[in-house]
Amino acid sequence: MASDIDQSVVSKVAQLRSQLRRYNFSYFVLDSPEVPDSVFDETMAELRELEAKYPELDQLDSPTHQVGGGLSELFSAVRHPSPMMSLDNVFDRVELERWLARLERSIAAEGWIGQSMPLFFELKIDGLALSIVYRNGQLEQASTRGDGVVGEDVTQNILTVGQIPRSLGSGSGVPTMLEVRGELYMPITSFRALNDQRLSDGLPLFANPRNAAAGSLRQKDPRITASRRLGFWSYQLGMIEGGPAFSSHSETLDYLTGMGLPVNPNVRKVGSLNEISLLLDEFQGLRHGLDYDIDGAVVKLDDLELREKLGATARAPRWAIAYKFPPEEKMTKLQEIMVSIGRTGKATPFAKLEPVFVGGSTVQLATLHNQDQVAIKDVRPGDTVIVRKAGDVIPEVVGPILELRPSDSVPWKFPAECPSCGGPLLRPGDESDTYCVNFECRAQVVQRLIHFCSRGAMRIEGLGEKRAEQLIDSGLVGDPSDLYDLSFEDLMGLEKTKERSAETLLHQIEASKNQPLWRLLVAISVKHIGEVAAQLIAERYQTLEATKAATYEELSEIDGVGPVIASSLVDFIESVWGSRLIERLIEFGVGGSSGEAVQSHPQTLLGLSYVVTGTLRSMGREEVEKELKSRGAKVTSSVSAKTTALIAGESPGASKLAKAEALSIPLIDETELETLLARN
Ligand code: NAD
Repeated sequence: MASDIDQSVVSKVAQLRSQLRRYNFSYFVLDSPEVPDSVFDETMAELRELEAKYPELDQLDSPTHQVGGGLSELFSAVRHPSPMMSLDNVFDRVELERWLARLERSIAAEGWIGQSMPLFFELKIDGLALSIVYRNGQLEQASTRGDGVVGEDVTQNILTVGQIPRSLGSGSGVPTMLEVRGELYMPITSFRALNDQRLSDGLPLFANPRNAAAGSLRQKDPRITASRRLGFWSYQLGMIEGGPAFSSHSETLDYLTGMGLPVNPNVRKVGSLNEISLLLDEFQGLRHGLDYDIDGAVVKLDDLELREKLGATARAPRWAIAYKFPPEEKMTKLQEIMVSIGRTGKATPFAKLEPVFVGGSTVQLATLHNQDQVAIKDVRPGDTVIVRKAGDVIPEVVGPILELRPSDSVPWKFPAECPSCGGPLLRPGDESDTYCVNFECRAQVVQRLIHFCSRGAMRIEGLGEKRAEQLIDSGLVGDPSDLYDLSFEDLMGLEKTKERSAETLLHQIEASKNQPLWRLLVAISVKHIGEVAAQLIAERYQTLEATKAATYEELSEIDGVGPVIASSLVDFIESVWGSRLIERLIEFGVGGSSGEAVQSHPQTLLGLSYVVTGTLRSMGREEVEKELKSRGAKVTSSVSAKTTALIAGESPGASKLAKAEALSIPLIDETELETLLARN
């Protein structure tokens, strides 16, 4: 009896339920979550555990047995032909293995005997569930999941989504009625463009693509939905009348594809835990190369008759499970907002956080991008914030949890002075960034020296932040050209320097004189000049001496350079700092007077991006990269949606091939590469 249970447990259960109901309402009805998913999932797990331990407290109206969080009053209600369910979750391989073992026992009890279980693997798209009904091939009604039984009528809004056909293809005859279920999502590219637009319009930002998709759909005015470029993946045939009968899920997906409905290409039949594990690894790696968010994978029984026999609980089917990937958003305390100064003087606000484990590592610092972003997110020291760390991307603060804001909190103000040199911080009228304009500022000088030596520039190894600070604070180095004037004795005079490391550093500095001109142009930190522009300029002028005499007119005529870069370089060459630096570098014989010259090629591959994998017979990897770059192409180390093609030699990397396949990126072999390089 509940009355025998300790009162503290009863009130804990009540408190968790009311908390979850509130989270559900904010997430599903207001499209504005109060806490990250990880907090919701942990709270749900805590309640589930208590209900399992004290079954007397378990009730059907508990959030553990319910779907969704209610209906908005914006739309009329629609009763679904059959309930739209949620999914049960597992969070690791052990839990998945247990679930598969239970499933195997259940289907064996239903009389199934077979070599391997008939399973199906899909990505778990992070969007919102839709039911769409087609009558005689025409889209008749679309509704959200709502509470699973009754959803919201969003037909008018869905009719504006280009990816969802208004009428079905009639290849194999159109059924009288077809209900398809799937996930409406916002592509990452649309999400970024939307948030950029909102930032410049001074509107609150969407926390993630899922909320942006939900917020874009649940609009009174369908024109707003139409402007948001939403996507849709079908993952289930709901009901069908006057059409074929199916025995497996895979057949239904093929049928939906045939009807012209979009089905995600990353779906597979699988038979074992091992196969599923490999796919989980693969997609956890590929996750950030896709143009839509996934928060895990779904494993489903493929056999429809077995599904029917297993049925569902009040909340989720027994024949499917969601495997959730580790959370990429967590909650933590923001201790302080600070500003760092980069090599071009750019002042970037960042948050000092209470350390939190998220996205595979412990995060203590997270970027806040710029002044506008801090203002629009209104994050303040002392706030509890959501931190996001996705893949290799720099961790960022998504936003504050307003309910947890201390009562004495005040908005944070962007400083007017540079935290390093005390000089003014200025924001050019047309830019979102703010700059320290004192070229001699210590922070800038240190960052410029570090950048000069970095792998992307002059490749002087062994000169990290500590060493750069020592060289600058001792007065030995004012600008990077002073590196070429350093002696062994100078270095040995610095604290904690061993003979061996001094010798190695001097050797590295000397060797860097032979780096090609384009690397030097990247290294000297001219605003707006990156690798591509540097290569184009180096190709035109060949030596630093010739570059020094470049005029604005000449530079801006180079295809791919343009007036912004041209005036930035001319300003640099004419500045006191820049002219001294260039003079001295010429004096020391750095940059283009010796070393590999950049060959002159027409820019036939400008704007294209390639990844190289495997061994090529006729050229080394570095040579291929050089050839591509000298024609204006970008060469990157990993395949993404932006990759033009993957150049594959012998023994190519399996993960690169898989990713290219997943993103439908074309493969190029050595012969095609030769044709590409021979283009005029
Ligand atoms: P869910 O998102 O864990 O899983 C069920 C849903 O997955 C389905 O309804 C469907 O919409 C979707 N889905 C995506 N791809 C699918 C596929 N290939 N096959 C089948 N379904 C697929 O469950 P839910 O009930 O929609 O939401 C609960 C989850 O939402 C929580 O675990 C939490 O992560 C999040 N949530 C967060 C908050 C918050 O405050 N942050 C509040 C409520 C819910």
